[in-house]
Amino acid sequence: MADDVRVTFLGGLGDIGRNCAAIETGDSLLLLDCGQMFAGDDRPGVDSVLPDLSYVYERASKVVGCIATHGHEDHVGALSHLLSRIPCDIYGTPFTLGLARRRIVESGNGDRARLIPVGDGDRLRIGPFDCEFIPVTHSVPGGVITAIGTPQGILLHSCDFKLDFFPVDGRRTDLARIGAMSVDPGIRLLMADSTNAEQPGSSRSESDIGPVLAGVFAANAGRRIVAACFSSHLHRVQQIVSAAIADGRRVATLGLSMKKNVALGRELGLLRAPDSAFVDIADTVGMEPGELCVISTGSQAEQRSSLASAAAGDSRWIDIGPDDTVVLSSNPIPGNEARVSRMINDLIERGARVAHSGEIEIHTSGHGRQDELAALHQAVSPEWFVPVHGELRHLRAHAALARRLGMPAERVLLARDGDQVVLRDDGLRIEPATCAGDHVLVHGPFTGSDRGVLGERVILGAQGVVVATVVVDFDAGAVDGEPRVTSRGWLDEDDADPLEVEMEEAIGRAVRDLLSQEPGVDPVDVRRVVRRTAGTLVANRSQRRPMIVPVVVPST
Ligand SMILES: [Zn+2]
Ligand SMILES: [Zn+2]
Repeated sequence: MADDVRVTFLGGLGDIGRNCAAIETGDSLLLLDCGQMFAGDDRPGVDSVLPDLSYVYERASKVVGCIATHGHEDHVGALSHLLSRIPCDIYGTPFTLGLARRRIVESGNGDRARLIPVGDGDRLRIGPFDCEFIPVTHSVPGGVITAIGTPQGILLHSCDFKLDFFPVDGRRTDLARIGAMSVDPGIRLLMADSTNAEQPGSSRSESDIGPVLAGVFAANAGRRIVAACFSSHLHRVQQIVSAAIADGRRVATLGLSMKKNVALGRELGLLRAPDSAFVDIADTVGMEPGELCVISTGSQAEQRSSLASAAAGDSRWIDIGPDDTVVLSSNPIPGNEARVSRMINDLIERGARVAHSGEIEIHTSGHGRQDELAALHQAVSPEWFVPVHGELRHLRAHAALARRLGMPAERVLLARDGDQVVLRDDGLRIEPATCAGDHVLVHGPFTGSDRGVLGERVILGAQGVVVATVVVDFDAGAVDGEPRVTSRGWLDEDDADPLEVEMEEAIGRAVRDLLSQEPGVDPVDVRRVVRRTAGTLVANRSQRRPMIVPVVVPST
């Protein structure tokens, strides 16, 4: 009997983001991705959300390395947190490592990682795992499908992928290699991207976007073009740069990550354009609008991003006006729609024309739809399947698709964050809730799971706070002076003032009553009475539910 292989999902199965899985056999553990997630509006004040890595830290001596499947933040964004606890070898293609390296170095963990580059088709032993890296198309260069040879046969992880048969850089998904592997020795377990599993049909090729961009440039002769996209999406950047050059323009980058990724892409030969095509943004003053294309970050209207600042009139580098056409070459990611819409309004307010993916086809997803997923399933023909990378609805849709493709229902396992699947000679079974699968929140230098602070923050943000202070002489059983009530974010001052006075009087009466009834009253009792008195009055008079903070100060 061969050794078991266990895959523990630490993130990414239930959310889009913070992808991370631990693959174990014997006394070795290989990590597959270690990403973060954007916090979103339902987690106010949180910088980012990480997987709970305590499962890995508890097995630190077993860790043989981490494979980074591609350079997106939801796959490499938590590496610096991992490295701050344990040193680790990280494997990825040069562009993936280039993106990861920057964050790791910035976090001060540069000396705790060995970054080991892998090439398309490379086969490498990492501990007991025999890993092969197969090129795949996605919205960032250098993504790899990973085939992991284990004592239980091959586990194949799809990476985030689409099947783009006309990729901008000509680097196609090596379906032939996967097909060969599926015949000999066969693939026991497939774990595949579910992001677009609900969408029928196929996604459009990235190279379809180039002609649309060229059309936008042609229709905006004489105007400055400010084009925004994800800075890691070098294929999009390439098409914008090529369209600009063909239109007789020079290109300036706006935003630090765009500047750095363009430099990294050119250094690695992934972005092809002559030096003469570029001009520093600081040297663009005085250039004719029709001679310039500014390529910018901030297509998601992220706060303090270059484009959002420019839209608000706060950019140090560009002043958006009637001579500008702004091109948003991306879709708002779920949760960002309102923010992007506000930014579009701000840009129009400044006189700019705006071209966005809601009106013309200047974006295509990096994640395959049903027909592309089906083609991968067909090539892999796995014995077992676990959908990964998606919210529950996406995982379910992908599981349903696999069954429609002919997989027996019992061979399709729906796992969630914290679950472990165990592969044995006799098949795959699921061990639910092997670890917590918790969301670890990053607030500046502090990290941890939510122990109530988010709920408080949501109440404070939506309803405000009322603070009621009373000074009590517990020895004499008397209230010292008069209680004080102040509020923030609850009501306008004019409306709050009379209610605060009423509350102060009511609290004074209630606390005196309590103190007169019995000896031995302690601060906890007084706090309860203050909270109840203030809370009742606030609810009745304002029909709001601000946070009530009772403060009881013993007089000395
Ligand atoms: Zn992803
Ligand atoms: Zn991705």
